[in-house]
Amino acid sequence: MAAKYKHILFDLDNTLWDFETNSEKTLREMFVKYELDKAFDSFVHFHNLYVFRNTQLWYSYHNKQINKKFLNFERFNYPLQQVGIDNPELVKTLSFDYLQVCAMQKALMPHANEILEYLKENRYHMHILSNGFEEVQYLKLKNSGLDKYFEHIILSEKVGALKPDRRIFDYAITSLNARKKEVIMIGDNFEADIEGAKNAGIDQLYYNPKEQPAISFNPTHMVSSLSEIKSIL
Ligand SMILES: [Mg+2]
Repeated sequence: MAAKYKHILFDLDNTLWDFETNSEKTLREMFVKYELDKAFDSFVHFHNLYVFRNTQLWYSYHNKQINKKFLNFERFNYPLQQVGIDNPELVKTLSFDYLQVCAMQKALMPHANEILEYLKENRYHMHILSNGFEEVQYLKLKNSGLDKYFEHIILSEKVGALKPDRRIFDYAITSLNARKKEVIMIGDNFEADIEGAKNAGIDQLYYNPKEQPAISFNPTHMVSSLSEIKSIL
């Protein structure tokens, strides 16, 4: 296949690094370590409350209504308050420990290593474009062994704009010294990764492993498994 693209921008969480699995594993460890079974009916009870609030908080963070510190605090404060615990010190401990322990986890999305090896052999320049927190994204990349594939790590916190904000895509293009038509964005979040890239004039490959139907336009490419990328790139 003709090499149309030179650069690939990859999202990290839930595109390459299995955030859902790694986060749940971390929360399970913390549930045991901090004896949260004394307060909650079950791990699922705690986890459902955490995920419910965390999803809302990330939405607000993306819309710049709250800052990172509040997000980190409130996602643990909320489940504890639901079971009648008002303990800011415990909340701070949990939120600090969560970030440290989660960054040590190594689960990747299916075929992540295989496709990165394939793309490397085919001489693509690969980079990370992520909205995740600066202090944990580098650790995740290193601990999971993904770091060796990437030339530029572009994080929203450093740029001062979150995907889908066009500025982070423009920043990436400038940093890579690339032309837009040489670049493709691969990500699992339709709004942040795919709409963001389209609005910035970059081709998009939507990784949609859960085959979610709700999309507002047809991306350049769509796959439900990373292994399908071999027939595209
Ligand atoms: Mg993602």
